[in-house]
Amino acid sequence: MNSDFPMEAAEKLQFAMNLVSAPRIHKGPVQVSLDLTSRCHMNCIFCGACKSKNEEMDFSTVMRLVRDFSLLKVRQVMISGGGEPLLYPFLFDTIEELKKKGIRVGITTNGAELDNSSISRLIRLGVDLIIFSISAYDEQSYVSIRKSAKVDFRLVVSSMASIRALRHRLNVIKPRIGNSHIVIKANQAHLTDMMNLSKRSGADFVHLQPHYLFVKHDESLLLTKEEILSVLRRLLPHESAIHSGDDMYAKRINSVFATQGVYHNYLVQQVPCYFSVYSTKIRADGRVYPCACKRVPEMELGNVRSERFKEIWFSKRYTDFRIMAMIASKKRYPLPDYCQNYCNYFYQNMKIFKRVNQLGYLKVKQKVNSLRLMKV
Ligand code: SF4
Ligand code: SF4
Repeated sequence: MNSDFPMEAAEKLQFAMNLVSAPRIHKGPVQVSLDLTSRCHMNCIFCGACKSKNEEMDFSTVMRLVRDFSLLKVRQVMISGGGEPLLYPFLFDTIEELKKKGIRVGITTNGAELDNSSISRLIRLGVDLIIFSISAYDEQSYVSIRKSAKVDFRLVVSSMASIRALRHRLNVIKPRIGNSHIVIKANQAHLTDMMNLSKRSGADFVHLQPHYLFVKHDESLLLTKEEILSVLRRLLPHESAIHSGDDMYAKRINSVFATQGVYHNYLVQQVPCYFSVYSTKIRADGRVYPCACKRVPEMELGNVRSERFKEIWFSKRYTDFRIMAMIASKKRYPLPDYCQNYCNYFYQNMKIFKRVNQLGYLKVKQKVNSLRLMKV
């Protein structure tokens, strides 16, 4: 499954156990993608988040969530998306509570709010992963993509150097540093420069993404066929730098409809959704979705402001959604149009689909039982 963290044995087992009992699952999600705030000082040209209402999760809701995550044995929480996590006033308290429960924690940040003190706090709290959104290859491109007065490219690059230096001084391997690049028309010709910048800045891995129209409907950001071919060519020498959990970028942009901002192939309606047993998305306004999909009302499965997360996860509504999503041929069932035509996790679902078919259902079940006996 797509994960910002390489999956550990216990996480694979939890996912596999949900898979064999799906859609009526008994375990919690392996991974939660959590938005704490939708505020951001920047105004990136590809982002729709900064135009949305300023939402913030209150800390009592976060504390309830952490208790439920612990009860459900959630393994990873990625604090990302929708806004800048460092603007959330209780970010460090949230991380502290999650770490106390033994949960791996990652954040995605634009880096503008980081300084030596916050870096040191994050490292001492044991944050496992920090992903910097860059999408640029030098100072000028960084500023032009962000369209914001509060942008200091050198500060972002020096923050990465500070993390590496402190990691070294404290003799720790965490946090891993990731760079996220959204490849759009304005930066595609400089893919090699972006990769080299990440290398020079000491990023442990790079996460490439295409532009999703559901994030911001702006077709002028999409690549033409020629640009896609040229990106694919320039990608080859850098494959080893790309995060193994996100080895789908080349497949996504090589999709038949990529020039229209749709990154899957014709099989999208035939491949079951495994994401709905593996992961969940909780937005800053408390709404729960099966993935970081477009906010379509049919995919809203509850709200943690008024309900407990563990009740939402095992609710009839979520189970009914999983039943529809996990049945191959989504078209025969009233799954949202979004899942049928725009699933941005198609290649991750496809990978599991192939694996399950190769092993056969009974073999998957046997494998889960043997892992269970090994008590991983
Ligand atoms: S830094 Fe992130 S949240 Fe802020 S505007 Fe840019 S993409 Fe959106
Ligand atoms: S968009 Fe894809 S991953 Fe998300 S719920 Fe629908 S089928 Fe699953």
